[in-house]
Amino acid sequence: MILNQPKHRHYDVIILGSGPAGITTAFELSKDTSLKIAVIESGLLEPHPTIQTLANVQLHGDLPDNYFPMHTQRCFGGTSTIWGGFCAVLEERAFTAQAWPISYQELNRWYPAAAHIIELPDDAYRQPTVAIEGTSELVYKPFFVSPPVRFNKKYHSFFQYHPRVDLILGTTGLRLIARGRTVTALELRDSLAPQLSPTFVSADTFVLASGGVGNPRLLQLSDIVEHMPVGLGLMEHPHLYAVADMYLDQDRLPIGLKEDPNLVHALQLSDSYCVENGVLSFSADFNMQQMTPTVLLGKRREMLHTPVTLRAELAPDFRNAVREGDRSNYLGLPMPRIDFHYRYHDLARESWQLFGEALLRSGLGRPSILQPEFQLHDGGHLMGTTRMGLSAADSVVDSNCRVHTTDNLYVAGSSVFPAGGASNPTFTIVALALRLGAYLASTLKGHADG
Ligand SMILES: Cc1cc2nc3c(=O)[nH]c(=O)nc-3n(C[C@H](O)[C@H](O)[C@H](O)COP(=O)(O)OP(=O)(O)OC[C@H]3O[C@@H](n4cnc5c(N)ncnc54)[C@H](O)[C@@H]3O)c2cc1C
Repeated sequence: MILNQPKHRHYDVIILGSGPAGITTAFELSKDTSLKIAVIESGLLEPHPTIQTLANVQLHGDLPDNYFPMHTQRCFGGTSTIWGGFCAVLEERAFTAQAWPISYQELNRWYPAAAHIIELPDDAYRQPTVAIEGTSELVYKPFFVSPPVRFNKKYHSFFQYHPRVDLILGTTGLRLIARGRTVTALELRDSLAPQLSPTFVSADTFVLASGGVGNPRLLQLSDIVEHMPVGLGLMEHPHLYAVADMYLDQDRLPIGLKEDPNLVHALQLSDSYCVENGVLSFSADFNMQQMTPTVLLGKRREMLHTPVTLRAELAPDFRNAVREGDRSNYLGLPMPRIDFHYRYHDLARESWQLFGEALLRSGLGRPSILQPEFQLHDGGHLMGTTRMGLSAADSVVDSNCRVHTTDNLYVAGSSVFPAGGASNPTFTIVALALRLGAYLASTLKGHADG
């Protein structure tokens, strides 16, 4: 049911946030269980200008001032209401480098169902990368494009008609109440009536799915921090638009010479090259439109001439962080303070040089030089602020996405990514949310049924 306040005082599971992470977790968890679930969402069915100001932050660093007001949508469906739909499987290198405490195969199990939800072709998980003959340094790794799926539209009737899953709109989670290792209740406030007293709702299990800033802030506001790096290591994907071109031999590309609305063609340094050379992932988009005469290896010939967009991985850096600011929002909550610097200009030049050398060595093509002055743009991807790891000393959640210092609090979303590769995050967010939903269903089912 869709409501504007909780119908029950106690739920089996409360999920805070109704973006792709929260909705997917609820959907998976509701299958084959009799659990009573509440998804609590700050926003309404449509964006509301007052509620949207809850996304404002105090920003210090490289991101533009309009980044957060625009990039975290406070409404049913969350930021899926504006996302672009670009998808790619996370690079295997992130797992072999042991940044993630789960195996690549473990995550891979969930990509097929995630592809189904975001309406991607099967190739998106069956063949996420294609080898290029004659080189082991480069791979073809396209981005697959979701229609893009708007989770609010796709799941509206699921919530409207489901007898045991309540979507509670216009209600903001203020903080969690914990007794020892057990979270017992959530303090709530009506998003449009701050003058009303807060209310409390209890549950056996809680899931934070409030985005890359919301998740760490809720832990900080609830004092569930205890020496864990909550909020630290905020990552983005630096994007460089039209800062270089390349000439490619289309006969060597493992694809037909065509534009496909469901694909964005891209080349990447291979995982093995990145591991051997200690390089982070880096991807160069190209399009298939323009053939031009040029010279390659002393021979004049027709080649594909294309501008490139570069998308890059950023290493987690604990100086990039979500903390408490010194101003409050209209609900009386301290605003988040974000410190974020890319520190990527030199690495971008280095990575483009390595990429260009690999391209020349492969005989596949040649790059132009990178423009001397270039701007780094963001992708709207907020990752790493409640990172997954083995212990509370250097991470916030364990391999099941449970907050280390609690028994019944979980986190969904890209805030759990300990490494973000150069792939857009939502495909992986949905895969991980399915995994979390299935895990909670298997552990809580007996309890709820009994
Ligand atoms: C312009 C743009 C383009 C993008 N394009 C792509 C793309 O092409 N490919 C890709 O993979 N990703 C893209 N993204 C990123 C993508 O939108 C996010 O990765 C995805 O939406 C994150 O899902 P989420 O559920 O974790 O968080 P969100 O979608 O942000 O949802 C969080 C929800 O939690 C709610 N919430 C927050 N705090 C509280 C609280 N205290 N109480 C109650 N509710 C709360 C919010 O209102 C929101 O509804 C793009 C983002 C932007 C901004």
